Order: sequence, then structure tokens, then C-alpha cells
Amino acid sequence: MSRRKKAKVEFKEEKDDKSAINDEDVVSDLPEKQKSSSNDKKSGVGSSRASTKKEKKEDIKKEKDDDKKKEQDNDSELDDPVIKDLFSGLEGAAFQSRMPFDKLTSTEAACFPDIAGAVLQTVKVYLNIRNRILKMWLDNPKQQLILDDAIRNMEPPYNSDLPLLRRAHAFLERNGFINFGIFKRLQPIPSKKYGKVIVIGAGIAGLAAAQQLQQFGLEVIVLEARDRVGGRIATFRKGNYIADLGAMVVTGLGGNPVTTLSKQIDMELHRIRQKCPLYQSCGVTVDKDKDEMVEREFNRLLEATSYLSHQLDFNYAGNKPVSLGQALEWVIKLQEKHVKEKQILHLKSVVSLQDKLKSNQYELIRVKETMQDINAKVQEVSKIDKRDLNQEFTYRSGMRDLNALAREWDQLKEQEKEIEDKLKELESSPPSDVYLSSKDRQILDWHFANLEFANATPLSNLSLKHWDQDDDFEFTGNHLTVKFLEFHLGKSNGQTIPPLVVILVMS
Ligand SMILES: Cc1cc2nc3c(=O)[nH]c(=O)nc-3n(C[C@H](O)[C@H](O)[C@H](O)COP(=O)(O)OP(=O)(O)OC[C@H]3O[C@@H](n4cnc5c(N)ncnc54)[C@H](O)[C@@H]3O)c2cc1C
Repeated sequence: MSRRKKAKVEFKEEKDDKSAINDEDVVSDLPEKQKSSSNDKKSGVGSSRASTKKEKKEDIKKEKDDDKKKEQDNDSELDDPVIKDLFSGLEGAAFQSRMPFDKLTSTEAACFPDIAGAVLQTVKVYLNIRNRILKMWLDNPKQQLILDDAIRNMEPPYNSDLPLLRRAHAFLERNGFINFGIFKRLQPIPSKKYGKVIVIGAGIAGLAAAQQLQQFGLEVIVLEARDRVGGRIATFRKGNYIADLGAMVVTGLGGNPVTTLSKQIDMELHRIRQKCPLYQSCGVTVDKDKDEMVEREFNRLLEATSYLSHQLDFNYAGNKPVSLGQALEWVIKLQEKHVKEKQILHLKSVVSLQDKLKSNQYELIRVKETMQDINAKVQEVSKIDKRDLNQEFTYRSGMRDLNALAREWDQLKEQEKEIEDKLKELESSPPSDVYLSSKDRQILDWHFANLEFANATPLSNLSLKHWDQDDDFEFTGNHLTVKFLEFHLGKSNGQTIPPLVVILVMS
């Protein structure tokens, strides 16, 4: 998974300062002690996101160092201080719940029209209450967060508006932001049933929906076509061997409800190593620069297909939907055509310069011959002791012409040098005669194969228009997995296995 297509849309790390909640605004009337405790809570995600360029560079360096260290230690992801920081504070709670820290979501705006239309201060109070409830739940997701506890633990002054607190709690519960997953219930499920619901499919989505609906007091029936539950998530067992066939990798903790689930069941997650060396058939790893160059090209090709689909709306050819595989091959062909066009342009430039050089040489010959003729005439009259008027005219005009021709000669020589330099430059940097060498193409094919693996289908089956529809909703952070995988795959030294090591067969 480490070499999957880069996520196109990252979580918006920059904070919009104008609309950001500033606790100071809300707590400005509070005593100093409360103000400082409130300010303490701003540290963490928010403060690091709003860092200066220099700080950012240092952050990136620190992240890299941390990455290295973590790869060495193979620490649990949730123990990582950088990750902990990301999940801490009110901003972390909102981030982890996929809600904007400082804004109402459209669903919230629809459910709380009185707040959405109110003054900024009221919105801020609501957001503070909402983020504080989220934090309470995420701090202890093993136990139901009941309204009474939310009220009891709510910091002043946010505990003063009980009806608003009740509404915020109900909204978060009803929309599955709190009290989901595997947790201890403190209140019994309502015995009075409010209605009946049929959920079709016992995959993770169906099961989670059924559980939620049941807890809201509905009678739920789940219909499943197969003879087992789990849908695409299934565990393969044979003798001592166990392998998860679907959803074996947590594709980033940021904003992922699986983070909460893993806490609820004490599941320790481990980072999948980013290292994924490619080997040639001779056993030597592919040269780093080449590996990076082809990976860059692979991402560029995906960007180009995305442009074709989403900007140019090129999604059908002859009334048939275009597949990602087709689009990639077309873009490669276009690139190859582009290489040929560049080559033609290059050759045209060389020919044009050579033509110029030829004209320059003709001019030089002409000037030289003219100078020789004039010089002969000048020499002839210069020998005469007493020149008549005509002879004097021939001598003087000859000398003048010789001077002009000498200047022209110098200019032509300069031009000759310029043309020759340009020619040398062009000849020393000819454009590549192929878009990808056969070696490059093999490495690129590895990326295509990896993409097929990630999508569990050949690229020719993937719809160009829809294959990346989930990109905008991707989770952030490293890809993780549970530790038992390593043991069942035969590693007992505590080292996480690299996701894929592929031998490229070089012809
Ligand atoms: C090989 C593979 C590897 C994957 N790896 C990962 C991974 O590492 N990480 C990750 O996050 N995700 C991974 N996924 C994706 C993940 O498994 C799915 O996104 C997730 O399981 C989908 O859950 P779901 O409930 O939405 O759908 P499904 O799991 O598809 O559940 C749908 C259920 O509905 C049933 N059904 C359908 N139609 C009917 C009907 N008419 N009547 C009755 N029942 C019906 C089906 O039988 C099925 O049980 C992987 C998927 C695959 C196939």
C-alpha cells in the first residue's frame, strides 16, 4: 500500500484564522485561572497547524526523524507523540470526528437553524459544546457517554445552557459521532420499539447501521444473501494460518472511526513499513533515482487521466465508458507522440541552424573573393607613383570598400561562431528518443500492478470516471495493521513485514 497513488486531497491543515474559534473570545469574561486552563487546551493540533514556514520546515524534519525512529523501533502507532498530538485537544477531537473544528457542518446547520442564523458568539458557544462532547467520548470510548455525564463534565461556562447541551448530545449520538462501536452501555436499550427496519446486507456497513438503529429503539432485521456475515471482510483460516482477506489494513488513523474501534477492543496497531524496494532479476535493487523518476511519472500519468476525466469530461469513447487502463495507455501514447514531436522540433532546429551556417559560409566566401578582387586593383594602382584622378578614385574607394568588407567579415565570423555554439549545444542535449525505455516501462508496470492489487481488479475493469471517487474522503496518516499478521506469515522476530517486495523480470 505504501506505493499507492498519492491521496489527491489532504486534510486541510491550514487554519482559517478569520473564522477559527478563539477560546479567548468566548472566555474573555472568565477569571484568569480559567482563561489559562482554557488556553492550555489550544495546544496540540491547532497550534502546530498554524506554524510559521521555518517551524514547518522544522516540523517536517522532526516528522522525518520521528518516521525513521519509528521504523527502527516499530513502535505502536498510537504511542507516537506526533499522532498523539494530532488527536489531542478539542481540535483533535473534531478532526478525528471528521468535523470542522470551527464551523458547522451542513447537517448541523440544517438541524440547528437557530444557531446557524445566530451571532458568531452563539455559534462559537455551540461549537465549543459540540467539540467538548466529542472529546469526552474519544477520551473514553469504552463506555457510553450519557447526557448526564456530558453535563457533569462540561466545563463552565459551557454547562450553563442545558437545552443546547442536550440538543448537541442528541445530535452527535443520532448521527453516530458518539456512542458507536463496541462500548459498555450505561443505559439500557429502549424496550419500547419505535418502528421496524430491514437492513439489507451484513457487511460492516449493514451491521453497524443495524446496531445503531437497534440502540435507537428500532426493531431491526438484517437480511444477508451469504451464509456468513462480514461481507468483504472475511478471515481465512487453514490450520495454524490466518489471513484477513478484506480490510486487513487500516488506511490511516486520521478521521477514521476504526481508530476508536481499535481503542475499544485494545487492538494495537502497527505501522506498515514504507520501505518497498524493487529488485531486478539479477537481485540488485532498482537505482534510487530511476525508481523515484518512474514513480513520479506514474503519479503524473494518473494526474493526466484525472484531468482527462474530470476537467475535459473525456469519459466515453464510441458510447462506451473509458477504463482507467485504456486512459493510461492513451496518455502514454500521447507522451510517446510528444517525444516524437520534440524530436522533430529538435531536428528542425538543427537543420535551420545548418542552413544559416551554410548561408553564412557563402557570405564569407563572397566577402573573401570580393576583398581579393578589390585588393588586387588597389595593389595595382598603389604601385603607380603619380596617380591621375581616376586612379586616385580607384585607390581610395578600393581602400574604403576593403575596410567595409573587413568589418562585414568580422561580423560574419562572429555570426559563424554563434551558430556553431548553438549547434553544439543542440547536438549535445538531444531530446530522449523514447518516452520510456523498456526498463522504465517494467517499473511502471509494477506500479500499475500495485494499483490493480490496491483496487482488487485489473485496470481495464476500473471506470476512469469513478475509480477515484473516494479520494476526497481518504483518511490521513500511515497505513497500519495488527501485529498478529506478522506471526502468521512466519515472522517471529517482531519485525513488520514490508507490504510487497516484487522481483522484476528483466528481459
Ligand atoms: C480483497 C480486499 C481487500 C481489502 N482491503 C482493505 C483494507 O486493507 N482496508 C480497508 O479499509 N478496506 C479494504 N477493503 C475494502 C473493505 O473490505 C470494504 O470497503 C468494506 O468491507 C465494505 O463494507 P460494506 O458493508 O460497505 O460492504 P460489503 O462488505 O460488500 O457488504 C455487503 C453485504 O451485503 C450483502 N448483499 C449484497 N446484496 C444483497 C442482497 N440483495 N440481499 C442480501 N444481502 C446482500 C453481501 O453479501 C455482503 O455481505 C478490501 C476489500 C477487498 C475485496
